[in-house]
Amino acid sequence: MSVTLFLSEQMTYIDVILPLPLKATFTYAVHEEMAQRVKRGCRVVVPFGKTKHYTAIVDRIHHETPEGYEVKYVFALLEEQPAVLPGQLKLWDWMADYYMCARGDVYNAAVPAGLKLDFKPKVETHVRLTEAYRTEEALQGLLDAMKRAVKQQELLLTYLHLSAFFEGGPREVSKQDLLTHGHASAEVFNALVKRGVLETYFFVVSRLGDESSQVRELKPLNVHQQKALDEIHQCFENQSVCLLYGVTSSGKTEIYTHLIEETIQQGKQVLYLLPEIALTTQITERLKRVFGGKLGIYHSKFSDAERVEIWNKQLSDEPYQIILGARSSVFLPYQQLGLVIVDEEHESSYKQQDPAPRYHARNTALMLAAIGGAKTLLGTATPSVESWYNATEAGKYGLVELKERYQEIQLPEILPVDIKELRRKKMMHGHFSPILKEKMEEALHRGEQIILFQNRRGFAPLVECHDCGWVPRCVHCDVSLTYHKYTHQLVCHYCGYSVTVPQVCPECGSRDLRDRGFGTEKVEDEIKEMFPQARVARMDLDTTRSKTAYEKMIRDFERQRTDILIGTQMVSKGLDFDHVRLVGILNADTMLNYPDFRAYERAYQLMAQVAGRAGRKGERGMVILQTGHVDYPIIRQVMNNDFEAMVRTQLAERQMCHFPPFYRLVYIYIKHRDRELAENMTAVLAAQLVKVFGQERVNGPMQPAVSRVHSLHIGMIMLKIENNASMAQARQLLLQMQQQMLQDARFKTLQLYYDVDPV
Ligand code: ADP
Ligand code: ZN
Ligand code: ZN
Repeated sequence: MSVTLFLSEQMTYIDVILPLPLKATFTYAVHEEMAQRVKRGCRVVVPFGKTKHYTAIVDRIHHETPEGYEVKYVFALLEEQPAVLPGQLKLWDWMADYYMCARGDVYNAAVPAGLKLDFKPKVETHVRLTEAYRTEEALQGLLDAMKRAVKQQELLLTYLHLSAFFEGGPREVSKQDLLTHGHASAEVFNALVKRGVLETYFFVVSRLGDESSQVRELKPLNVHQQKALDEIHQCFENQSVCLLYGVTSSGKTEIYTHLIEETIQQGKQVLYLLPEIALTTQITERLKRVFGGKLGIYHSKFSDAERVEIWNKQLSDEPYQIILGARSSVFLPYQQLGLVIVDEEHESSYKQQDPAPRYHARNTALMLAAIGGAKTLLGTATPSVESWYNATEAGKYGLVELKERYQEIQLPEILPVDIKELRRKKMMHGHFSPILKEKMEEALHRGEQIILFQNRRGFAPLVECHDCGWVPRCVHCDVSLTYHKYTHQLVCHYCGYSVTVPQVCPECGSRDLRDRGFGTEKVEDEIKEMFPQARVARMDLDTTRSKTAYEKMIRDFERQRTDILIGTQMVSKGLDFDHVRLVGILNADTMLNYPDFRAYERAYQLMAQVAGRAGRKGERGMVILQTGHVDYPIIRQVMNNDFEAMVRTQLAERQMCHFPPFYRLVYIYIKHRDRELAENMTAVLAAQLVKVFGQERVNGPMQPAVSRVHSLHIGMIMLKIENNASMAQARQLLLQMQQQMLQDARFKTLQLYYDVDPV
């Protein structure tokens, strides 16, 4: 047998990634005809189990016959050109490895559902003249001949009008539009088709919208901004990551704009990441004005069909040069990535909590840039302790500072107010101190706008029985239900369970059920009482469930249709309003009392960011900071805008207590319906971990913040690994342990998962 013959008879196999949370790779055989065409990253349909079929991604093509089972054949190859690029597969591998989840989990999160099924483009039926009638003479003759078929004649004229036939047309006309505009029935239309005048055809409609918008020049940078930009360039000469630490309203966005322009001039692509979809509204408008159709937006609130179109466009010869998006945009295909901007890099919403992959989009973006050979710019007014450490002591990133606000407007004056004292003296008006009330009056009088910030944590409004103290709780989760006044419902914010508020207390029969606690709704009521004339808007999770509701609220505030904006965390983030001079922080204390090693860092970031919304244009702003702890150092740090003092004390504390950035954390979760089993197994696992990693690296079993969700009991263990130790080895050990424990039959019914670098 000759060698060539031997080779051609060799069977081809592919290893594929299935959209399932499975660790293993699956191997399928490929028919010879398909073997010539299949490439890594292509989508294939494969049989799985007895009846199922999945769209899988080809990861490896080889000739190694798998042993021990009968190999099935691939059903279909969906394309000749890969839908997933090699760089993306590399990123998936890294994510599965680093975040300790299955590659199938990553695949599921990364790829829009439409690509996992058979994606159908949006098709409309369009109408056109048949070949015979596309000249003016032919049409004239036809119209004369149709004198007695008035309705048909009218519909034909409507078509000629819509298609602009005599004005340089024809334009596309959908059947739907024609019938609507012509006020015609399908019968009249069909008659024209039968007569051989009109014909229909299928037209694939783009969902991406009109891209031919007017573009404007970049704004010239001022001297401080130009200096920062020069320093960023310098930094990129020998480092691939740069932290831009620029105070609020210093014009970071303008600097990004210039960098983006330079990058696309070089024919490279840019990814501009924002922590939340909500934030994209304002920035999108700013960037659209400059980059027009070169800019694409991508996030999870888009319909799946739209996401598929963007994905395909990024694979095409004419991809968007700039993608602006929330965390899922790290998953898009990039052919020529040159720059990644991570705006508001300190934001914890960059971390995906559930489901797997529980990834941090900032860190994933850093990896994405590294794979693509691109630079990364992290920007913020309040760096995360981790990034600050990396840019200073660790020397991993470059650091560029921008301390001047645009037009040298001073940072706002911050006035702390001791609400503990005022409460004692009974001088508070609900949640408003006399000084805050007075400043609000002044502002309203001067026609200025006001932002009030109310931290969400720990302030869920509850219903309570006034007689026995009973509080309604979720039947599936270990949390109390939140009261929604306008719908008169009690809602679980973990699982969505909801009930109407009961008439009487189920414990004692009392009718005196009152709403307790301090949500934004309550603040709104108090304002309406104090300033009945003021137009108030409330921005929180309940009022902004839809993206349009949020956008409308921002637009109304921008156009000064509202005077006071009350909000939770949402109002702290990167918004840019011109007429806000006064910002009130209603109560700083819940931020400080939270039992989490990041509580101080978070509190500082939140307060500094909220304060940063004041006085961005024109006059210096003012912030009233209400707290029961005016003597805490952090209050002074916020007042003096002394980020460096905050981060110094935090770093010292973290080093002493073995927390990031000196140690990496891995949380291990165990879930089960049976509480005792969950508790026992968590204890067994903790003991095992102590044996392998040593006592000082294991904390737990710990009480998670919420110990039951969706009727599952949760056990948690915290593992701390030195920053300079091998994470790969630690992961290896963990997975080995998990394997061993699976030998214990009781473990088979448990859910076990990891949260690496939790926030
Ligand atoms: P940051 O992102 O640092 O908070 P922004 O980029 O939002 O700051 O800038 C604050 C405001 O100042 C924005 O309204 C912006 O348009 C304006 N601005 C900043 N730099 C310039 C500039 N060079 N030319 C014109 N306007 C600028
Ligand atoms: Zn009661
Ligand atoms: Zn629940």
